[in-house]
Amino acid sequence: IRKHSVWTQDRVIKSPYKDIEIPNLTLYDYVWQNLDRWPERTASVCAETGRGYTFEQAFNLSNRFAANLRTKFKIRDGDTVAVMLPNIPDYSLVSLGILAAGGVITSINPIYTAHEVQRQLKMSEAKAIVTLPEVVPVIKESLKIAKISIPIIVVKINGNPAPEGTVLFNELSEDIHTDNSVLKEVRRSVNDICFLPYSSGTTGLPKGVELSHRNIIANCEQINDPINAMHNETTASHQDSVMGVLPFFHIYAATVLMFHKLSIGAKLVALAKFQPETFLKTIEKQKTNIMMVAPPLILLMGSHPAATEKTFEHVQLVCNGAAPLAASDVERFLHRTKRDIDFRQGYGLTETSPTVAISPRRSKRYEATGPPVGSTELRIVDGDLKNLGPNETGEILIRGPQVMRGYRDNPQANKEAFTADGWFRTGDLAVADEEGIVSIADRLKELIKVKGFQVPPAELESLLREHPSVSDAAVIGVPHQSKGETPRAFVVLKNGHKCTEKQLSEFVNEKVAAYKHVDDITFIDSVPKSAAGKILRRVLRDQYC
Ligand code: AMP
Repeated sequence: IRKHSVWTQDRVIKSPYKDIEIPNLTLYDYVWQNLDRWPERTASVCAETGRGYTFEQAFNLSNRFAANLRTKFKIRDGDTVAVMLPNIPDYSLVSLGILAAGGVITSINPIYTAHEVQRQLKMSEAKAIVTLPEVVPVIKESLKIAKISIPIIVVKINGNPAPEGTVLFNELSEDIHTDNSVLKEVRRSVNDICFLPYSSGTTGLPKGVELSHRNIIANCEQINDPINAMHNETTASHQDSVMGVLPFFHIYAATVLMFHKLSIGAKLVALAKFQPETFLKTIEKQKTNIMMVAPPLILLMGSHPAATEKTFEHVQLVCNGAAPLAASDVERFLHRTKRDIDFRQGYGLTETSPTVAISPRRSKRYEATGPPVGSTELRIVDGDLKNLGPNETGEILIRGPQVMRGYRDNPQANKEAFTADGWFRTGDLAVADEEGIVSIADRLKELIKVKGFQVPPAELESLLREHPSVSDAAVIGVPHQSKGETPRAFVVLKNGHKCTEKQLSEFVNEKVAAYKHVDDITFIDSVPKSAAGKILRRVLRDQYC
């Protein structure tokens, strides 16, 4: 680690860590490159049933699935395949199978409604979708709305038969007559897109975030830094046990839990349904030593009566990310564990694969996210994009190998997301001290985060405006004790129309996942807007909150 200041003369913050080397591999080859060191170890296991796979099984099954994606479903290099699954041990097999077939993964929240799913399937031009039997009705409905037809592949995890018109993942991955030689046709280069999650970015509706093999491998290497690494080496006598409670469809879990942890030989414990007691019992039972979490989980672990010293007996490291967390909440949690746990704060975005900054080992500045990871540069800028110095608050800009190629098919959004000289604009307000330690201060962008999940106001506004009695609408985030934020809507009714709060809530809520529900609606006469027609959210906040 460099001892001198990380600020350059022109006020760019350099990483204090060594530059990373990015192996010239596809993400698939990167993950499996050390397979022969731990073939018999458990790669992933279900927290509730104990069903799981060794590394060797995961490799073989995902390869057969890949070959069948090409032969039976004609998946070709660069084709997108959607994954709409909860955290099950098969998630990584499905994902790596898609990559091995030359495909691109687009991950969908398994609790999305048909309305939300159809949009992503259409935009990503998915050629197939992998899901659970119980989600099939939602997918069939979404395909009807989108007027498209694609194969539905289901992972069968209990005795229920495969729903009509679907194909079993298990039959594709376990078919020993599969001819894997078709995989030799796959031509993928490190700069090709491999992952297409959706994020609303600084404004508007969710957009496809194009992440390349190189982007994600770079991020795995950035969190592998020898000084700052957040894992132990897998040896004959040790394997990290990692809690897989963050949703695998989100980039934080996809890169940091799934791809990175598989690449280093750790065991990933998949928790499909979140229930506080099961979560806490799993930590103890699985001898969890590494936890990647978001703020609501820190709050829960610091206050739930079932969270005792014994629960955290094996825990060495806990990393928080995805949303802000107060130092007092971290202290409360650490106090309860009565252990010397290494607490780390990470900052990142879907658009940056995700990790940008992590607090150093054993940092006691719990609210700060630390300096940039290796090969990453930051700038803190004012409204005119002029660089600010230490201890000045401004928008944080990023340059590094983990930054996305861009939003798919969206030149306008890309123009707004990058400066003319290629810096990515986060829409977050941050401050950095003399040592380049970054603290996130606020969000400049309109995005609302509920329990760490993205809730784009534009999505709720457009749904509200679809109601026949609504002439205009604006949505902002308001602070909430346990969820971080919740959406609050301001609605202008059409002249002479009558409509209750409850009617409007129901109209919107049936079309969106539960964490996006709008239950707080205020009727106003007009939505404050700038001359260019942009909603003045700050005016609403100042006036009503
Ligand atoms: P997502 O793309 O869903 O990962 O959301 C990224 C956004 O989450 C960032 O732009 C921040 O607004 C917020 N975020 C991520 N990590 C942190 C953190 N450690 N502290 C505060 N906000 C965070």
